[in-house]
Amino acid sequence: MVCFCFLVDQTRQVQRRKPAAGTCSRCGAGACVADMKTATRFCYVPFYWKSWRAIMCTFCGAVIRSYH
Ligand SMILES: [Zn+2]
Repeated sequence: MVCFCFLVDQTRQVQRRKPAAGTCSRCGAGACVADMKTATRFCYVPFYWKSWRAIMCTFCGAVIRSYH
């Protein structure tokens, strides 16, 4: 059986973001609500998309909370 794992990767894009209440637990910067889109690619060709929303840090990009 051939393993294709190395051909599959994921890219994460922030579609839009707006300020939100809360602070980052890692660096203490402000948080924002971000609409995220994760694309799973096979041989660099996207074949699966997932949209989700997350509270993330505006400074370091850490995901504080996610709503899948
Ligand atoms: Zn942070």
